[in-house]
Amino acid sequence: MDFKDYIRVVPDFPQPGISFKDITTLLKNGEVYRKAIEELKTMVSDLKIDVIAGPEARGFVVGAPLAYALGVGFTPIRKSGKLPYETIEVGYDLEYGKDRLAMHTDAIEKGQNVLIADDLLATGGTISTSVNLIRQLGGNVVGAAFMIELADLNGRSKLDGIDVFTLMKYE
Ligand code: IMP
Repeated sequence: MDFKDYIRVVPDFPQPGISFKDITTLLKNGEVYRKAIEELKTMVSDLKIDVIAGPEARGFVVGAPLAYALGVGFTPIRKSGKLPYETIEVGYDLEYGKDRLAMHTDAIEKGQNVLIADDLLATGGTISTSVNLIRQLGGNVVGAAFMIELADLNGRSKLDGIDVFTLMKYE
C-alpha cells in the first residue's frame, strides 16, 4: 500500500509557500490508519520501549494507538499552560512560528526508554525540544517515529544518534 495516496497536500497552508501534508484523509480510512500504525509498530519492534511520548495534537493520533498496539504507556507533550500538574517547559521555533512545550514532571521515570511519535518531521524543532524535555526528566530516548518526513528540511540532523522511523518521505 502506498500511504501517500491517502495524504492530501494543501498548498499555501497555513501560510503562503507552505505545502501542508494533511493526514486527516489517511486517518478517516480505518483500514489505512490501522495499517499505518501496524507498520510503525513493525519498524520499532526491535526497540525496548517503556513509554511513548507524543507532542500535541497530531502526535496523539500517532503515539496513542502505537502505544496501545505495543502495550506500553503514553504520555502527552503539550503546549504551555495546558497540563494541570507541575511541569517543565522548553521554548522552540516551528517551521512557521514559535511556541513552548511542556511535560508533567512525573511523566517519565528516570531511566525509562522513551519512543517519541508525531505525524510529521519537518525542521526537527518540535522533536528536538521533546528530546530535551524527556532527557531533563531522566528518560532515555530510544527512537522517533513519524508518518511523514519532509526530507529537504533535514530534521534528522537535529536528532543526531536517535533512530528515526518514517512511513513516507517528501522531498
Ligand atoms: P518541525 O518542528 O519543524 O519538525 O515541525 C513538525 C511539527 O509541525 C509537527 O508537530 C507537525 O504536526 C507540524 N507540521 C509542520 N508541517 C506540517 C505539515 O506539512 N503537515 C502537518 N503538520 C505539519
